[in-house]
Amino acid sequence: MAKNAWHNFIILISRSFHVAMRFIEFTFDKSHFIYELVPKLSVETTNICSSKCVFCPNAIMKRPREHLDMMLFKKAIDEFVKLGGTIVSFNTTIGDPLCDPYLLERARFVRGYSQIKSLGFVTNLQLLHKYNIDDFFNSGINWLAISITLSGKDKYREFFGIDAYEQTLNNLIMLLKTNQRYNNKIKVVIDIKPTNERIVDRINHPDFQLVNSLTKQDLVALVERMSYYVDDWVGACKLPRYLKNRPLYPRFFCPCRLLGNTAIIFSNGKVGACSCRDFNADSELILGSLKENDLSELLQSDKRYRIFSDWLKYNKVPNLCRKCSHYLY
Ligand code: SF4
Ligand code: SF4
Repeated sequence: MAKNAWHNFIILISRSFHVAMRFIEFTFDKSHFIYELVPKLSVETTNICSSKCVFCPNAIMKRPREHLDMMLFKKAIDEFVKLGGTIVSFNTTIGDPLCDPYLLERARFVRGYSQIKSLGFVTNLQLLHKYNIDDFFNSGINWLAISITLSGKDKYREFFGIDAYEQTLNNLIMLLKTNQRYNNKIKVVIDIKPTNERIVDRINHPDFQLVNSLTKQDLVALVERMSYYVDDWVGACKLPRYLKNRPLYPRFFCPCRLLGNTAIIFSNGKVGACSCRDFNADSELILGSLKENDLSELLQSDKRYRIFSDWLKYNKVPNLCRKCSHYLY
């Protein structure tokens, strides 16, 4: 643990220095803060999740757990394409896309537009075995970011809150082997989550070694530079002792990058300017609902522009963003 603490301290110092330099650079270079008239689009196709991660407010989310209505989904994608949009993901604020029974139908619909060049999502991979793997590979999904731990079922349960280690590990192995068969059709990025263990124990674990042998990604380097700093979702999550909340970086006159370049459709049809921390979809960053408005109206609304420009010009920071440690330069 002493080595981990020292390692963590070094990472904090180096990140703090990096952030300080970026803050100075960007404060004086407003061209960094770009407002995209047609942003990237995250579509939360479901807010149902199979997991109970220790750093996630899934358990206290108040909105109903539901899949995004298919008619609203198709209409929104049609409009996004008409606007000239090119980047769509199925990233959620809360939820795992593999819990959505319409996932592959939606993926095929999105990739039916040649204008949309890529499609993927962050996932815990716990339910991949429910899919026909060839259908999955032929759906148009071409990137996946996988959250996992690779040092046994006890450490997995501590982080993900459920007993799904063996199944998830098998799913990951199946995915990597199938990807080899498909000539690496899907870009797979493995994100190993922090556990309360020594680095050497994580790297020497046989499951880690097995997965490391199946990917070109440098998992050893990933674990070695891993930090224990995560975000507590604006104070909503009580983190275990081994995880630390990210510091609140200064943000005077510097809008969060997400507000300018990404918008989200929530599973209840609401559209938001923050694509990742408004977990109840009820903040002042909500632009409206697809049940009442077209997506194009909401993305190009005065409200979306004002949220960004009021922060940039007058340092008027939305309440949710004031204490958000997920803030992105
Ligand atoms: S972090 Fe993601 S995978 Fe974990 S509980 Fe939250 S939504 Fe589910
Ligand atoms: S600061 Fe936080 S709440 Fe605000 S847009 Fe960025 S990620 Fe979302």
